[in-house]
Amino acid sequence: MNQFLTRRIFILIPIMSILKVIFKPLKVFASSFASDEEWKLSQEEWKNRLSPEVYYILREEGTERAFSSSLNNEKRKGTFHCAGCDLPLFSSDAKFDSGTGWPSFWEPIQGSVATKVDFKLIVPRTEYHCSRCGGHQGHVFNDGPRPTGKRYCNNGLALKFVLE
Ligand SMILES: [Zn+2]
Repeated sequence: MNQFLTRRIFILIPIMSILKVIFKPLKVFASSFASDEEWKLSQEEWKNRLSPEVYYILREEGTERAFSSSLNNEKRKGTFHCAGCDLPLFSSDAKFDSGTGWPSFWEPIQGSVATKVDFKLIVPRTEYHCSRCGGHQGHVFNDGPRPTGKRYCNNGLALKFVLE
């Protein structure tokens, strides 16, 4: 019995250390880092700038309730900006009705978002955030329409719509 246990531990230790190395770079942070020095704000500064609901999404990677955002049905021509720093993230030309209850886009404005993998729901998902302030926007999936086949599933609270 003891011998059996010892052997199991000897097998487990190397497996655990391999897993640690694999998962370390994918560790989920409360929010992503800003790429722009001007937007490296403290938690306090963000709390002062944003409403609690928007803070929860942008800075704590929260998710709003499906069908709760009026931007879900926004069909006018314009641009969707980051609610944190006002960087334009999506054009209305790339918006489509995904039926999920969240504003969905098949393509961001080039360079406006960055991605990382998160394990919040155990299954890995690709999180994306504003490339300037690091504010969490949503998750991107591979079941979107042509031409990209991507579905950027965005929190409406993380966006500001600017009419063209
Ligand atoms: Zn931003």
